[in-house]
Amino acid sequence: MRLSNAYFRTLRETPAEAEISSHILLMRAGMIRKLASGIYGFLPLGWRSIRKIEQIIREEMDAKGGQEILMSAVQPAELWQESGRWYGYGPELWRVKDRNGRDFCLGPTHEEIFTDIVRNDVNSYRQLPLNLYQIQTKYRDEARPRFGLLRTREFIMKDSYSFDKDAEGLEKSYTDMYDAYSRIFTRCGLDFRPVEADNGAIGGSKSHEFTALSAVGESEIAYCESCDMAATSERAACVDDATSNEAMYETEKVYTPGTKTIEDVAAYLGLDTKQTIKALLFVVHDETGEDKYVAAFIRGDRELNMTKLVNALGIPEHAIEFADEEAMSEATGCVGGFTGPIGLHDCKIVVDSELVGMKNLCAGACEVDHHIKNVNYGRDYKGDIVCDIKLIKEGYPCPVCGAPVKFARGIEVGQVFKLGTKYSESMGAYYKDENMQNHPIVMGCYGIGVSRTMAAVVEQYHDGNGIIWPMSVAPYHVIITLVSTEDETQVRVAEDLYEGLLAAGVEVILDDRQERPGVKFKDADLLGIPVRITVGRGASNGIVEYKMRRDAEKTEMKADDALQAAIAVVNAEKRG
Ligand code: ATP
Ligand code: MG
Repeated sequence: MRLSNAYFRTLRETPAEAEISSHILLMRAGMIRKLASGIYGFLPLGWRSIRKIEQIIREEMDAKGGQEILMSAVQPAELWQESGRWYGYGPELWRVKDRNGRDFCLGPTHEEIFTDIVRNDVNSYRQLPLNLYQIQTKYRDEARPRFGLLRTREFIMKDSYSFDKDAEGLEKSYTDMYDAYSRIFTRCGLDFRPVEADNGAIGGSKSHEFTALSAVGESEIAYCESCDMAATSERAACVDDATSNEAMYETEKVYTPGTKTIEDVAAYLGLDTKQTIKALLFVVHDETGEDKYVAAFIRGDRELNMTKLVNALGIPEHAIEFADEEAMSEATGCVGGFTGPIGLHDCKIVVDSELVGMKNLCAGACEVDHHIKNVNYGRDYKGDIVCDIKLIKEGYPCPVCGAPVKFARGIEVGQVFKLGTKYSESMGAYYKDENMQNHPIVMGCYGIGVSRTMAAVVEQYHDGNGIIWPMSVAPYHVIITLVSTEDETQVRVAEDLYEGLLAAGVEVILDDRQERPGVKFKDADLLGIPVRITVGRGASNGIVEYKMRRDAEKTEMKADDALQAAIAVVNAEKRG
C-alpha cells in the first residue's frame, strides 16, 4: 500500500475521553473511529488487524472440526421467551420492535438461535457431535460503555456452540475449545491466563475465562503459586475461618448510640470487627414485578460477593438492588445501621457459611442505637440459605491448598462454558439414540471478543510512541519510510524494496507522502508496523536503515540485505 493515496489520518492530540492506551493509540493511529457511546467503526488499518485475528480464530476453529456459519443478528423474542432469558438477560438485551409491534432483540450471544437451528435439523445420534461457529457483530446495551474497544455496545465476537450426545462428548468438545483458545491467544501474542469463572447469564455448570493480563483490565483473578488454583475473584471460593470452640454466652442488648458502621460499633464496644456481623439489605424485583426483601449477613471484616449472592438466590444480577431502608424497615423490621438477624421478619435471610462456626458475635438489634452481644447461629437465628457469599481478597488462604492467594488484573478476551442441557431441555432439542430413545443434546458454548482482543493486544504491546504490533496481527508487516520523495535514487531504492517485498508475499506500506521525515518517523512509530526500513541519504551507496519497532537499535545495511532480513523475520513470525 502506498501511503500517499491511502485512506489514513493520524491524530497528534489525544482524544479527550480516551483514558487507556489502547483507546488512545487506536484512535490516534487512525485505526478506529467513534460514532456514539460504545459504538466504533474500523478504518483500513484497524480492520486489517481485526481480520488477522479472525483468520487465526478460523484456522484454529477449523482445526478442531468447527464449521463456520452466519446467523442473523436480529433475533425474534419468542426464542428468548422459550429459554427464559427474555426476562433473565435484563436491560443489557437490546430490544427492538418491528413496524407491527413484534418484539425482537439485537443478539448479545446466540445460544437460542443455534439451539433452534439444531433442534430442527438434527434428530439422530448419527448427526452428533457438531461444532458450529460464526464471527459476527454483537449488541449489548452496556450500562457503562468504556475504555474504547474493551467495553462497547456493538462488538465483534466469535461464538461457537458444541452439540454432543452425552457428558463425555461435551468433555472432549470443551477440552478441544479450551486448547484452541490457548493456541489462538498465544498466536495473537497475548500474555494470558485461563482461569475458572462464573457462568453468569449464560448458565451451565463449568466455565473458564481467558484473561489477558493488564493493569487496566476489569477482571480480577485470584491465583495460587503453591498449587494451580486460578479463578476470577467473583468465582473463587473464600475459605471460612476456623470454627470457634468458645462457650455460648447469654445475649445482651447494649446501647450503642450513633454507631451505624461496623467500625463504629467495634470501636465503641472495644471489639475486633471479626467479632461482629454485618448486614446488607436488598430488594429483589421478580418477573411478575413483585418485590421481595433479602438480608445477607457476613462477618464484619468481610466483603460481600454479589455474584455468589445472586447465584445462591437463583436470580439474575439485574433483578437485585440495595433496598430503600425506609420501605424495607416498614415491611421487615430492619433498622438502617442497626440491622441484625434477630427480629427481622418477612424477608429472606442469607447467611455466610462462616458465621455458623463463630461464637458470641455482636449484631444490630433492629432497634435504633442498639446492638446485641453474644449472638450465635442456630440458637439465636437461622438462615433460609447458608453458603459462601464472601469475596476473596489478596492474601486470604487458597481454597485448594491454603497458601496465601495472589491477585492480578486482566482483560477477559474469551470464555468457554459447559451448558449441559439447559437450552436443549428448555427449547426441546432432542436426538434419538440407537434404540430410538430420546435424549436432550448436551451443549457447550465458547466466545471470543475479537475487537476486545485487538485492544488487549495493544494494551500489552505499546510504548510512549505508539503501538508495537506482534507480527501475527499487525495490519502490515513492513513499512518503508522514504525520506525524500524528491531524491530519485531514494525513490528508486524504495520502489525496488517495495516490489521485492510484495513479490515475496510480505504485506508492506510505502510511506511515499510528501511529508517531513519527522512526521513520517512519528507516524511509523505510532502505527507500530513491526519492521521499518528507512531509505534516506545512504541510498546513493545502496545503504538503508533497518529497524524492528520493538527494538531500540537501528542497523545500516545494503538494501538487498534489508530485503532478505525483512522476508526472513516476517516468515518466521507471521503465523504467531
Ligand atoms: P464481561 O464480563 O466483560 O461483561 P461477559 O462475560 O459478559 O463479558 P461473554 O458473554 O463471555 O462476556 O462474551 C464472550 C466474549 O465477548 C467476552 O469474553 C469478551 O471478550 C467479549 N465481550 C463481552 N462483552 C463485551 C463488550 N461489551 N465489549 C466488547 N467485548 C465484549
Ligand atoms: Mg464472559
